[in-house]
Amino acid sequence: MPVHTRTCHICEANCGLLIETEGRRVVRITGDADDPISRGHICPKGNAIADLEADPDRLTSPMKRVGNDWVALDWDTALAEIGAKFAAIRAAGGAAALYVGNPTAHDFALGMQTGALKKALGVRGVYSASTVDQMPHQLAQYYLYGHNALFPIPDIERTRHLVILGGNPLASNGSVWTIPDVKRRITEMQARGGKLTVIDPRRSETAGIADAHHFIRPGSDPALLIALLLALDEAGLVQPGRLAPMLEGWDDAWAALRQFRIADLARACGWDVPAIHALAAELGNGQPTAIYGRIGVSTAPFGTLAHWLINLLNIATGNLDREGGVMFSSPAVDVAGSSGPGSRGRFFSRVSGHPEVMGEFPAVSLAEEIATPGEGQVKALVVIAGNPVLSVPDGGALEAALDGLELLVSVDPMITASSRLAHYILPPCPPLAKDHYPLLLAPIAFRNFAKFSPALWEPLDGQKRDWEVVAELAQALAAAQGINLPPPVQPREQLDRMLQKGGHSLAEVMAHPNGLDLGPHVPRLPDRLFTPGKTIRCAPEAVIADLTGRFADWLARQPEPGLVLIGRRHIRSNNSWLGNAPRLAKGPDKCIVLINPADAAAQGIGDGDLVQISSAAGTVAAPARVTDEIMAGVISLPHGFGHGRPGVRLSVAKPGVSHNDLTLRTRIDVLSGTAALVGTPVTIGPAFAVAASGTNG
Ligand code: SF4
Repeated sequence: MPVHTRTCHICEANCGLLIETEGRRVVRITGDADDPISRGHICPKGNAIADLEADPDRLTSPMKRVGNDWVALDWDTALAEIGAKFAAIRAAGGAAALYVGNPTAHDFALGMQTGALKKALGVRGVYSASTVDQMPHQLAQYYLYGHNALFPIPDIERTRHLVILGGNPLASNGSVWTIPDVKRRITEMQARGGKLTVIDPRRSETAGIADAHHFIRPGSDPALLIALLLALDEAGLVQPGRLAPMLEGWDDAWAALRQFRIADLARACGWDVPAIHALAAELGNGQPTAIYGRIGVSTAPFGTLAHWLINLLNIATGNLDREGGVMFSSPAVDVAGSSGPGSRGRFFSRVSGHPEVMGEFPAVSLAEEIATPGEGQVKALVVIAGNPVLSVPDGGALEAALDGLELLVSVDPMITASSRLAHYILPPCPPLAKDHYPLLLAPIAFRNFAKFSPALWEPLDGQKRDWEVVAELAQALAAAQGINLPPPVQPREQLDRMLQKGGHSLAEVMAHPNGLDLGPHVPRLPDRLFTPGKTIRCAPEAVIADLTGRFADWLARQPEPGLVLIGRRHIRSNNSWLGNAPRLAKGPDKCIVLINPADAAAQGIGDGDLVQISSAAGTVAAPARVTDEIMAGVISLPHGFGHGRPGVRLSVAKPGVSHNDLTLRTRIDVLSGTAALVGTPVTIGPAFAVAASGTNG
């Protein structure tokens, strides 16, 4: 039976796989020991590709919703009907919107088509998972280094101390950090004498193998980070070294930071002052150290401020662009070098006046753009590879808004909590009929690499790849409006051109089916900076204003009483889209709420009890696990559940309740427009009156 080398497309880790097939059937999937990056690692999700490929709920033709029923259409009819309806909406003055889900970042060919679709839809700002996830990284990098795609990557192979804030790579397999086989790499670091410190409101799986774990109050990361900087300063340990000549506004940044007192900051984040001095002394000891913050830091009310501070800490300790610190990659395709640097505030959203950030509007503002009457009201929406009802805060409000659209088109293989509201669903073919190249993920990898995985087979008759669906949809929408679009980009040709620009070629990469190791990161500053004078802009005006205004006001109110909610991820899930894989759905219930024993006792809640959780957005009920792995004052409910809504056709997925039926549209990081999922105020109590499913208030 043939064995195909392949890269797993599911998460950012990009593990090498060996896929044994018989005809079009997947017989076995194992990790590829010859992949130079993943070294044979595979997680349960990689095996579940077999389930995705054979999912009986997968749609095989375009579907049209007629009342509560679905009718299968051929592609020409579906695209013609969509084009005609869209043209009529536009002619009547209705506006359109585009929401792009996270899997788009894992499909290089699909990503190449979204520009044409934007043009056909006549949209300027798009909505995407980036503003419920990672925009604070990008905005901080845009301010500091002059390009939003210049991600500093922890050099785990050479560091002596890895500090992770609000990240759990043992469950996520790395996020905004392509790091396959992360657990073994951490233990290898520890065997070399290195140390892992995890700072998280939950003693996560990663914290379980850490040398040190500290709780922190959700959303208070800037308080800790400023306190660490001030403690470094007090101890005379600020030593940017060779970075010093590149630092613009360094003194201004310090002047702003010195307005705060360590004692106040410590109280806000729930740390002892001596513990802050102790960690600062470690960070400033001159050893190669990498400080990395992820989802818990990004999806908080001060996400951009926190990422600016993480970068300042890496600079202040001399660990930016240093072997063993955080480094910039040299990918085979230089995505940063071949795209615009980014932007903020070139234009604004209609209803609330949110500035665009990197060409995007906050995903939390999509519901109001649909629901608010007036000129420019969104009447037609295309969703690509997304399930925003479960992914965006206040899913109930978005659900109601989507239901009021005149045209909703979902490019989705399944009938989900979001696509069930579509007028048309355009389903792409299963994953193994598609090429794979980690165009957007190689640049955030712990080591430089390139690997191209050709499709195992052609799509079946009547099936199309995602990029073909989107390209043909764009052409149909344009044609119906009398707009001429150039023919779609052929992804392999475009990729080859991009590789050649970087001195490689597709043929060269394909000659290494297990992957091409392009070596560890090397120091790249100042040449890699995109700022006009090749400087690091340490005191961006907008960030300093946020620090001295909004953050200072918040700090004065701390500590605030009450219980707050955080999310979490399980190794067997990936956002909202893998729940229907039998290999992942099996096992004990994962949609449970973690409650600290003190909070449980205060509310009369016992282990296993059904708990009612309420916020200003809604109420859900979930079973409790009473555990001291979560800090007092905080509860945790995983995200990606909520498949029990009427009309969803996922026969395997366990329904659970949606975390985002509790999160609030009004809580955002104002600078980046990113949803503050972390720290939603909630109340809990025994669930006597609600079923174990979401109800929206
Ligand atoms: S860690 Fe990510 S890339 Fe690797 S097998 Fe699992 S899902 Fe796939």
